[in-house]
Amino acid sequence: MEIKKVSVIGAGTMGNGIAHVFAQNNYSINLVDVSQPALDKAIATITKNLDRLVAKGTISEEIKATTLKNLSTNTSLEICKDSDLVVEAATEKVDIKLKIFKQLDELCKPETILASNTSSISITKIGAATKRADKVIGMHFMNPVPLMKLVELIRGYTTSDKCVKQITTCARMLGKIPVEVNDYPGFVANRILMPMINEAIETLHEGVARVNEIDTVMKLGMAHPMGPLQLADFIGLDVCLAILKVLHDGFGNPKYAPCPLLVNMVTANYLGVKTGEGFYKYTPGVKDLVVSDRFRS
Ligand code: NAD
Repeated sequence: MEIKKVSVIGAGTMGNGIAHVFAQNNYSINLVDVSQPALDKAIATITKNLDRLVAKGTISEEIKATTLKNLSTNTSLEICKDSDLVVEAATEKVDIKLKIFKQLDELCKPETILASNTSSISITKIGAATKRADKVIGMHFMNPVPLMKLVELIRGYTTSDKCVKQITTCARMLGKIPVEVNDYPGFVANRILMPMINEAIETLHEGVARVNEIDTVMKLGMAHPMGPLQLADFIGLDVCLAILKVLHDGFGNPKYAPCPLLVNMVTANYLGVKTGEGFYKYTPGVKDLVVSDRFRS
């Protein structure tokens, strides 16, 4: 089966980037979210990102127009029924994902591949919620999707070789580099990244150093393009907390216990870029990185 029609579920930080990349590579895309404002914001973000690419000379006005034409939005999953591939990028909560996959399994044609962009939730568990576990796979894009080359392909316990091959080909068609990994909590990317972010938050919480100092040490000392606290803001502190909980529950090892400061910030809705404040403060139009007042003294 050739993959032509694709649906993306969830129009947040990742969903809009995933939809953008598919649409720019000539796939017909339905972007689905339960929230109409999230869909409107996603289209505005994609348009802004396309404008930036046109201004840089990376793409032409014509490609921008075709990309937008390839995109449609919807608030109902029903629209996915003719899709060859569905990529789910909804909130990182197991109950939400299991419900979506159950519904998709009932709605979609038998050959449709159901992929999840989950950062940490078991693909085997998601597959078991369907009657097509052989066609359920992890397709983990990195943020920001239009720029990052890696797609971590997660093979669930019963994902078929055929499905892995089809998604490998599809990721390459998008200009990405797929890397296949097995299905254990956090896979590879977040099993390594999240303990580092959690330790950076713990270092701040214990007063070892301040926000700027922690990020600067990691940028200048380890050649990281972004410090761990800025990266956490960029990913979303709620997403970081959800992943750490999956690692903690999945391995039963206290080394993954989320830092209490992270828990407090998520509870208070200081989620980073998406809510305008986390370790840093984000004001529209301001490019400089400004540390949040809460961490200034
Ligand atoms: P987000 O909070 O920015 O967006 C999630 C979107 O899902 C929201 O717009 C919400 O309205 C929508 N949603 C919730 N329930 C839904 C449902 N039942 N049907 C349709 N839409 C629904 O989250 P995000 O950061 O884009 O993360 C999405 C997924 O991608 C998660 O699984 C996350 O772990 C993963 N991921 C995130 C990053 C990152 O850097 N943020 C990187 C890689 C993977």
